[in-house]
Amino acid sequence: MKTSYLNPFGQAALNVLKNFGNITRISQKEPHINEIITNTRNQDPKKIDTIQELCYEKIRYYYTRQANNKTSGYKYLFSQALEEEDIISTHALLQAAAITYGTQSYEADTIINTITSILDVKLDQTTDTIMDETLNEYIDIHNTTLNDIILLINNNEIKLNELLLNKDKLILTYDDFIREYSEYLQHRRPENMYQAVCTSMKKHLLRALITEKLRNYMKTIENKLKQIEPATIITEIGHQIKKIQNAEQEMVIKRRYGKNVNFTSFDDDNPTKYIPEAFPPCVQKALHGIKSGGRNYCISLFLTPFLSYARLYPGVYARHIKNPKITDMDPTLTITEEEIIPLIYEAASKCKPPLFQDQPQEKQNINSKLGFGEGEIKYENSGKTPWYTPINCKNIKEQQPGLCTPCQDCKKIGNPLSYYNRKRKLLAKSGGKG
Ligand code: SF4
Repeated sequence: MKTSYLNPFGQAALNVLKNFGNITRISQKEPHINEIITNTRNQDPKKIDTIQELCYEKIRYYYTRQANNKTSGYKYLFSQALEEEDIISTHALLQAAAITYGTQSYEADTIINTITSILDVKLDQTTDTIMDETLNEYIDIHNTTLNDIILLINNNEIKLNELLLNKDKLILTYDDFIREYSEYLQHRRPENMYQAVCTSMKKHLLRALITEKLRNYMKTIENKLKQIEPATIITEIGHQIKKIQNAEQEMVIKRRYGKNVNFTSFDDDNPTKYIPEAFPPCVQKALHGIKSGGRNYCISLFLTPFLSYARLYPGVYARHIKNPKITDMDPTLTITEEEIIPLIYEAASKCKPPLFQDQPQEKQNINSKLGFGEGEIKYENSGKTPWYTPINCKNIKEQQPGLCTPCQDCKKIGNPLSYYNRKRKLLAKSGGKG
């Protein structure tokens, strides 16, 4: 095994890149890939003719793994014999995402996650010696202090509690480990103790160093290509990244909707289609717009959080996900832009006078309540402000009493979203008969 198996930026990997020649070669047939597929044990049969196709395979592998589906169709991706094609495809993906979407995009994050999800499997297969050699390509493993890797901690690439430190020095090698801890290791096998304590730390550290390098590499490419025209093949891969994302996400959504359509169970931690018959009286009223006086409260403070959480994360009050952002639930923002925003804007237009007619700035306020700060609804703005949770009944009754015209079902709840969740389940049980 070589360090280039793990590190696409080490000297060996850079030599592969240098010797590869013109990037257009990635669209040419490389019979070697299919030879590797055929010779990989327990690999499902498939045909991948070019490095370009290999790029797309990697993204599909990431989504397959995310969905906890079988990955037996992708075992060949971890073959050491695929070294050259692996390195070239990794660089092609990074360049394509950086050029087409920029480093702050959802697509760039997907490519980083794709590469690190493959790296995770490789790290589990690697030897201690190769891990040390690869770490040495980034840091001096005999002499690294906390200060040397402080950026990784600040950027949340690694946590302090994942590191073994003596004062501020990282303990990474067996020699250092024995020197520092031999007195505590009597009657134990020091090799086993070292493996137990240090191996997973080294994996975390190497993963963090490579991830940081992936991000920096993308930034460099993004800046460089402002000055020069990118190769057509790279732009083509860039466009394909989004197509694969959409197709994979559609499949996930289909699976989720399948569940709800049959009413076999409710997965309230994920996007769920609206059931308008289950909206509480206050929401039904707000959707028809209201008169001047409480329009901002009704549209921005009340309706915006309700409609966004009801569609994307109705189970928010179970608090399974900490500090959620809209993009955690709707990474491409398709649901937000195509379903949630139109409903909010329609209600705003039905107000008297229409809300945006005299207060166009209220659109920014809505974006801010959805967590996009004062900016546009874009992936990179998500999380700039907190995503407001739905207001409770007590507050509505105090601030906008005209909105609250309680029905029988309101007796059992304290928040319109709880009303909605309860009512959806009651409707499902009664076969939608209310
Ligand atoms: S009691 Fe709560 S849920 Fe019912 S109408 Fe009033 S505000 Fe809405």
